[in-house]
Amino acid sequence: MYDHQPSSGRPLKRMPLLKAAVLFIVAVCLTLVGLLYLQLDQSRRYDLEQAQVASQNLTRAMAQQAEDTFMKADLVLSSLADWIQADGYGAAQVPRLQRAFARRVAALNQLHGIFLFDRQGQWVVTSFEDLPRGKGVADRDYFKFHQQNISSRAHIGPAIRSRENGEWIIPLSKRVNDKDGKFLGVLMAGIKMSYFDQFFKSFSIDDNGSMFLAMTDGTLLARRPFVEAQIGSSLAQGEIFQKWLPGASSGNAMVSSMVDGVIRLHGYRQLDAYPLVVSAASSQTAILKRWSDTAFQSSMIVGLVVLGVCLFGWVFIHQVRNGERIEADLRAAQETLELIATHDSLTGLANRRLFERALDIEFGRGARQASPLSLIMLDIDFFKRYNDTYGHVVGDHCLAEVAGAVKACCQRKADLAVRYGGEEFAVLLPDTDLRGAKIIAEEIRQRVMGKNITHTESPTGYITVSLGCYSFVPNGRDSIEVFIGRADAALYQAKHSGRNRVAVLSMEGAEEALIRSDR
Ligand code: GH3
Ligand code: MG
Ligand code: MG
Repeated sequence: MYDHQPSSGRPLKRMPLLKAAVLFIVAVCLTLVGLLYLQLDQSRRYDLEQAQVASQNLTRAMAQQAEDTFMKADLVLSSLADWIQADGYGAAQVPRLQRAFARRVAALNQLHGIFLFDRQGQWVVTSFEDLPRGKGVADRDYFKFHQQNISSRAHIGPAIRSRENGEWIIPLSKRVNDKDGKFLGVLMAGIKMSYFDQFFKSFSIDDNGSMFLAMTDGTLLARRPFVEAQIGSSLAQGEIFQKWLPGASSGNAMVSSMVDGVIRLHGYRQLDAYPLVVSAASSQTAILKRWSDTAFQSSMIVGLVVLGVCLFGWVFIHQVRNGERIEADLRAAQETLELIATHDSLTGLANRRLFERALDIEFGRGARQASPLSLIMLDIDFFKRYNDTYGHVVGDHCLAEVAGAVKACCQRKADLAVRYGGEEFAVLLPDTDLRGAKIIAEEIRQRVMGKNITHTESPTGYITVSLGCYSFVPNGRDSIEVFIGRADAALYQAKHSGRNRVAVLSMEGAEEALIRSDR
């Protein structure tokens, strides 16, 4: 209770510093990772948006080119159909028609050839010099379509191989009527698939990218990269035709390929004038190539910085822990020193230094609270003789035993048992009046006797103690020496009255009451 404490009053708090350091490091790392994530997320979005814009532009260009290509051929067929309707395709007309067909094919790059078929699907005139020999085209879809449909609208059919020279062509055909509106035959312009291939190749797309022209029912007409086996196959089950086209006639969609599993960003657009769809796609990997390179580099840098911060944090925390350990050791050493400086090594009781400190404190407190302060001084009887008889070592042992008895009687926390001198002890009892002090003194006397420490040279045959008690209420101007002196005087009285007893000195010191204890 009267022990010395460090000047700060309590040990320095290290835990919050440790926690703060850990929190700071975690916050720095999270911030770095968060910022990296935000930045990468933003640049990824930006790259994807740019790719969407690019693919929209590309599909617009493709749609325009496809529309132009078919439109020009359509116009050619319309004018020729009008001509044939007016003049028929009799023998007299055939040479003129042939020249007209050839001139138009020569003028339009996209045209493979122009063909006129009669009611039975047999060649009548073509843009080529010689008529092909063969069974005609009565079995072709476009021929059957016009045979059965009165409409003069142009029809685009699935890609076919020309029976003229085996080239892949997309047939654009028209019904030709006679003057009465009856079916006279079919005019067909074969549009070179290679024309689209050339066009598609003029764009730079990544190795995994693709471009295609298809009919709205999904039938593939032209594609980059060109895979012959796929021409004429149906894309109708693909996500674009199933999911996206029904919703919007143009747009973008990220689609996982049914064929190769590659994720591609598709731009698609349906033509206004013809039942055709164009699409261009770039693989997500290619679109995000630069982004993923940057992401990798940034992640590496941030990773290294985070590692550095963690390493620094680890060293810092280690240092703080070391500091804590050193501080704890120092505190323990300080406490040990304090204990050594304020306690007696033989008995473990407080020494005079601590006794004086306690007196100082209790004088102040007693005065403030107007509460009595008592002191018991005690001295072992005939101890010199004991030493002489049993030796100093046994004497020391006896001192420790008596100290134990004294200590055992100090019940309250504020009570202080002191080794005052060689074989003299003091017990300071704050907030205790003379009556209380006397009771405790008597208790000590009994307890020492109860230890039955043989002392053949004492009249009682055992170790006994004499005790003097003094009690007063401090008033702030008291002298420690007088206080001790009065308790000592009481002890002197106890000695002189025959020892092994308690003597008390009243507050004023005027009246002395000596009480012989019961044995
Ligand atoms: P009285 O009854 O009048 O007190 O007689 P006494 O012999 O006890 O006389 P006094 O109080 O003067 O005795 C002091 C003796 O206590 C002297 C010394 O031999 C012994 N003594 C003092 N300090 C120590 C100590 O630390 N160890 C031991 N063994 N003996 C001590
Ligand atoms: Mg003595
Ligand atoms: Mg003595």
